[in-house]
Amino acid sequence: MIVGILGGGQLGRMLAMAGYPLGLRFRTLDPSASAPAGHLTEQMVDDYTDLDALSRFAVGLDVVTYEFENVPVDSARFLNRRVPVYPPPLALETSQDRLIEKSFFQDLGIATPPFVRVETWEDLEQAIQTIGLPALLKTRRYGYDGKGQYTLYKDEDAVLAWQTVGGVPLIFENMVKFEREVSIIAARSLTGETKFYPVVENHHEKGMLRLSLAPAPNLSAEIQSQAEDHALRVLNALNYVGVLAIEFFELEGKLYANEMAPRVHNSGHWTIEGAQTSQFENHLRAILGMPLGSTEMLGASAMVNIIGAIPDRRTVLSLPDAHLHLYGKAVRPNRKLGHVTLRCDNEASLKQQLNQLRSLAGLHLPEKIDC
Ligand code: AMP
Repeated sequence: MIVGILGGGQLGRMLAMAGYPLGLRFRTLDPSASAPAGHLTEQMVDDYTDLDALSRFAVGLDVVTYEFENVPVDSARFLNRRVPVYPPPLALETSQDRLIEKSFFQDLGIATPPFVRVETWEDLEQAIQTIGLPALLKTRRYGYDGKGQYTLYKDEDAVLAWQTVGGVPLIFENMVKFEREVSIIAARSLTGETKFYPVVENHHEKGMLRLSLAPAPNLSAEIQSQAEDHALRVLNALNYVGVLAIEFFELEGKLYANEMAPRVHNSGHWTIEGAQTSQFENHLRAILGMPLGSTEMLGASAMVNIIGAIPDRRTVLSLPDAHLHLYGKAVRPNRKLGHVTLRCDNEASLKQQLNQLRSLAGLHLPEKIDC
């Protein structure tokens, strides 16, 4: 069986690595000849909007999936007329626009931060009155890793916010004073079978994920069940097939949805070593209609992103429970180049090795980790 992946980034690469033991083959499409999945898949270097290239890409494929959410929806629909595309293009369309996405959550009864649409300067002035400050002004489309957003603390910030992100469709959101950020990874197979991983705690810096702790420390059954309930609503509403990630803010025992990703997700990388079946394998099982694998955790895990500089491999690997993943990308500031997962038998050992990772390998971690 041959799986086509739109996008040849690290997620595509890890999907392929999970699929080879199942006897799968992969073809990736990416405009960059140096995309990391190209090292280990049959790679096509073409534009996502080139219909000719898409037609050639589709030949002989059993299923098509994607590894980033800015795949042009029209291209996904074009392919879907030739080969099944999962997750469904509707999921892509919903998650590409923050306004549609947050309205979708609310329609399903899933709480979000209060928000309004902003198109003009007058809308922004009005939004400050209605929603209040502090707040975030975000572009509705093409924002990721904290890009395309501006935080307003006082009325005077409006001018700079407008100069920075104005001129395109925007959303204005109240800033949630969350206790922590968490996410859930869920999977739904072609057969309708669903599974959920334990909720994880995420630490971001400048909008980029730095660290995920799995399970989220002091995870209550109540938060796990809220997250599963919300994910299930989304999966069913979209007749979803594949792995889905939803990121939440946790405040006073309640979850507020921030965004979803219709794909495998950075906050699920720990599942490669830390769960019975990885998110990558379960995504493939789901889109091929195979039984989903157990999402049970093996001990406690932490995933630390390697951003901007590669630490010394020997140092990282000197930690007994460290697993190093490098994506084969050229080093550039603020670029995700790999990750380290620590999979330990207990939380005490995890905490100790996280501290060692910080001091030995110079990996950037939040000052105080409470795990
Ligand atoms: P996003 O691009 O929406 O994922 O936002 C990136 C990061 O900015 C999030 O992970 C949060 O740390 C922060 N953030 C985004 N929206 C809000 C919000 N409404 N309230 C508080 N923090 C936010």
